[in-house]
Amino acid sequence: MAPVPLTQVHLSEPHFRPENTRQDRFSLSRLLVWFLFFFYFSGVHQTIIYSSGIAGFFGITQALVMSLLWLVPVMLFPARGKLIAGIVGVVLWATSLFSMGYLALYRQDFSQSVIFIIFESNWAESSEFLHSYFAWWMVPALAIYTLIPWLIWRRLQPIGGTPLIRLPLTLAICLAVCWPMLDRVIIKKDSLANGFHKQADSMEPVAPWQLVMGYVKYRQALSHAESRLLASDKPPLDGLVDNNADTPNTLVLVIGESTNARRMGIYGYYRDTTPRLAAMSDELLVFDQVYASRPYTVESLVQALSFADQLQPNLHLEKPTLIDVMKQAGYRTYWITNQQTQTHRNTLITTFSKQADEQIYLNNNRSQNSAQYDEVVFGPFEDLLKKAEAKKFILVHLIGTHRAYHYRYPDTFKIFDDDKDLPPWVRKKRHRREYNEFDNSIVYHDFVVASLIEQINKSGQNGYLVYFADHGEEVYDYPHRLFAGRDEAAPTPAMYSVPFLVWRSESWKRNNRIDVSYETTRRMYSLSDFLHTWVDLAGIRFIGFDPGKSIISPQYTTGPVLIGDPAKPEALVDVRQKFFPATATVATPATNMRGPGPVPKALQPIPPAYGQEHRAVTGTAPVVDQWMRHP
Ligand SMILES: [Zn+2]
Repeated sequence: MAPVPLTQVHLSEPHFRPENTRQDRFSLSRLLVWFLFFFYFSGVHQTIIYSSGIAGFFGITQALVMSLLWLVPVMLFPARGKLIAGIVGVVLWATSLFSMGYLALYRQDFSQSVIFIIFESNWAESSEFLHSYFAWWMVPALAIYTLIPWLIWRRLQPIGGTPLIRLPLTLAICLAVCWPMLDRVIIKKDSLANGFHKQADSMEPVAPWQLVMGYVKYRQALSHAESRLLASDKPPLDGLVDNNADTPNTLVLVIGESTNARRMGIYGYYRDTTPRLAAMSDELLVFDQVYASRPYTVESLVQALSFADQLQPNLHLEKPTLIDVMKQAGYRTYWITNQQTQTHRNTLITTFSKQADEQIYLNNNRSQNSAQYDEVVFGPFEDLLKKAEAKKFILVHLIGTHRAYHYRYPDTFKIFDDDKDLPPWVRKKRHRREYNEFDNSIVYHDFVVASLIEQINKSGQNGYLVYFADHGEEVYDYPHRLFAGRDEAAPTPAMYSVPFLVWRSESWKRNNRIDVSYETTRRMYSLSDFLHTWVDLAGIRFIGFDPGKSIISPQYTTGPVLIGDPAKPEALVDVRQKFFPATATVATPATNMRGPGPVPKALQPIPPAYGQEHRAVTGTAPVVDQWMRHP
């Protein structure tokens, strides 16, 4: 048997010098150790996922098959085997940390949609995120997770064997790894593209492919969306009629960010976080059962600003969007934003903004964690109001109450900064600080939204202004789970409940009479249907307009208010079932109207029953859940 040629690597690694003939011979057990090393980085993750019941066995199978791939270079270049394994190991270790970290935080498998959400948010946000979820046990866990493969790597011994043994084995491995594609293309006679997709699907549960494939798919989807959204040949809506075609109109849509309606005074929160809006509440329609469909900016707004919804999530690529509708109705469209636009990331919302005739990008900061207060929109908004254009549609996108909250308001809005009236479960210093900061950011946000309403009111223009937030935000709202942020896998009302207000000018009210009763403002509504409410308010009609999906229409129908990831339709759930499971049968006393005092044990809900909101859901009382009252 010819000895393996000696190289530098051999000389520097004495273990690799064949010491005796035993090491020359092919050894299956030594090969298994190599395999174990590569399998480790996906295997641990997939085994935890399988054994905790998060997902089935598919991930483990794929991890077993796809980890074979790394044996190929090792067997082709046995002399450099250990070096190759070391480099591959570092790459696998680093990429597996993403999925392991995600698993630790969210108890969920790392999926395609997670990658979308990561790439659509930014690193400043992610580091803030890591900071807030960090727990002490992660340090030893990371150390052990890293130590094990290092120990295995140190024990790697030459696999041995002649090329006569290693080459057929390598070929067999290649066959096994590429089988999903070969099966599609050669046996099932499918196209090469479909074969590639099948291969990608099979490799996805395995490091590092979940990141690589995820990124490739993300870029593909983004450029496809961009070309569809900005396509000039989009077919217009049939039979479009504008009832206000003969008057000059200014219609304004203000989109906030990460604001939970239940933390706003105007909705009954025990702290007065919205003094300005409350002062003008006679002039507003205040809808209090509106829910975002997704707890993430892009995912929620794509649905709110198009025909897409939870059941047909891709309609924004096929049908005109809200901006297209307004353009078709003869409006000149403007998009003012204080959200980041000038980074390397070009998110889908930036693409939506490019549909408008003019864009005013105000936030050129590289980091979202910088004080760029929303009042910067006042000047450009004023300028647009003054424009002599007869029909204007102005969309104002605010940074709102986005984390980190203390970057969202100047010191003059530091209203809540003591512990006096904090809920008793908000004890930790960091929690107390964040709880107060979030409320302060809402006070500032109240100032911004109210000022925009005052601006359009003073301008004397004929029109209206609608304000909603893209989704809510949980900031230590519940005693049974101390959590801040958003998590689609563990939804709460705080993450989905959004403010929804309408202001109308006197002339608009006269010319566009709508019958909005107290009961109307209590309707359950999904933000994903917003386009129908918007055109209904504007007096625009077309074939395909669904009055059942307009919150102000007499023909409004209580449809399901679905939340969850539409990529997993079986996981979609109605807000009513998820948050208020008892509403259908139980009539309750007005426990939610209690004054200050400790929460009696009997009233402390077991998740997912979030408070006693039954009366609110039946539409006879404003939404007040017990956590909004001072406990
Ligand atoms: Zn958002």
